Amino acid sequence: MPVRLIYCSRAARDMSLQDIQNILRTARANNDKLGICGMLSYQSRWFLQVLEGPRAEVNALFLDIAEDPRHDAVTIIAYEYVDEPLFGDWRMGYAADGGAVGHLLHEFGMERFEPLVMSPLQALRFLHELSTAQELAA
Ligand code: FAD
Repeated sequence: MPVRLIYCSRAARDMSLQDIQNILRTARANNDKLGICGMLSYQSRWFLQVLEGPRAEVNALFLDIAEDPRHDAVTIIAYEYVDEPLFGDWRMGYAADGGAVGHLLHEFGMERFEPLVMSPLQALRFLHELSTAQELAA
């Protein structure tokens, strides 16, 4: 059964567009082979990422990602078994600016993007609404 893992982390330094593009290039190539999909968000030096796919592959990839020196304070927010992936259309979707879903932060009572204090449901809603906004913009 597929799993969904959501984590957040702190970038080791401010990430440029080029830095993010490098991560996404590797992610999309690897994830495609592993049958993993998901969404990555980066803002205010925080990453928030969801990975969905076969349990063994998601677990192994997460351990690799957690070792990556480009970020630290890697914190799992949610880990669950799912019937169907929610992010199946995305080998690794990306959103730099949560402006499209800024209202959610307000609803969550947050003044800025602080994934460390998001509940599992809040993090999932945030990423899912971002992916929907991306689809609409595409
Ligand atoms: P390479 O990309 O060649 O990397 C080899 C090693 O070098 C790895 O240990 C890597 O951590 C390190 N490395 C690579 N580039 C840099 C750099 N610019 N600065 C410092 N160290 C570097 N990978 C995926 O496959 N799927 C994902 O969904 C995914 N999401 C990520 C999300 C974040 C927030 C970050 C920071 C990284 C993510 N990665 C992802 C990259 C992942 O951490 C590994 O780099 C990647 O899985 C290893 O790919 P590779 O075997 O092709 O080796």
